[in-house]
Amino acid sequence: MIRFISNVVRAAAARVKGSAAAAVDAVARFLRPSIRLVKVESEFPKRLKPHTLYVLLEDGVPWQATMICPCGCAQTLDMNLLPDEKPCWRFSSDRMGRASLHPSVWRKIGCHSHFWVRQGRIIWAIP
Ligand SMILES: [Zn+2]
Repeated sequence: MIRFISNVVRAAAARVKGSAAAAVDAVARFLRPSIRLVKVESEFPKRLKPHTLYVLLEDGVPWQATMICPCGCAQTLDMNLLPDEKPCWRFSSDRMGRASLHPSVWRKIGCHSHFWVRQGRIIWAIP
């Protein structure tokens, strides 16, 4: 009987420990940006890294953004940031260097991914 109670207590302790670890994980995921922002002058790197939004600046003005599609299809997505051309996205970054794009990115071909970039995170549109 004592052994049984000891096992139950041990299992309960492991469960509590596990949910605490899950909670820490959830907080870490919330705090950690899933998309890194890299600002570049003159040209984009030849090889783009995943989970990275590259913003091309000219005289400090963002005019083009590119990234590898976050769905994993490996397609390169180019977003125009110049208001004179359409379609056009508005790029911003906060004090922590987390990028946002407006409006959403919606691929009409291929993987049909539809998502927002908000404060360095991908927010998928619910189909
Ligand atoms: Zn994709």
